[in-house]
Amino acid sequence: MHELSIALSIIEVAEEEIVKLGATGVTSIHLRIGALSGVGKRSLSSAFGLARENTACATADLVFEDVPIIAYCPRCREPRPISSIQQFNCAVCDSPVSDVVQGRELQVIAMEVT
Ligand SMILES: [Zn+2]
Repeated sequence: MHELSIALSIIEVAEEEIVKLGATGVTSIHLRIGALSGVGKRSLSSAFGLARENTACATADLVFEDVPIIAYCPRCREPRPISSIQQFNCAVCDSPVSDVVQGRELQVIAMEVT
């Protein structure tokens, strides 16, 4: 139940924000989710749907912003998008890429409160 623990920590973050802002509830929570985060949007949404009951997030929706995979290309000597998640080659020169620079993130970037 990986997604459930993530959903619970999102709610925890949201509830801390509500206290800070003096708000009463959350209407939406915006998340950045990388293609390599290992978290499924659908399973996270359904876990969140269960976890939000009886919390300040009871009527909140998750809004996802996809983060594309960017990896360092040794040939271009620059961070580049990859050609596909199966291939992991540079989208510009088609060389194999090494270090993933972006695409593993899962973070709360914004929320709307009432
Ligand atoms: Zn390249």
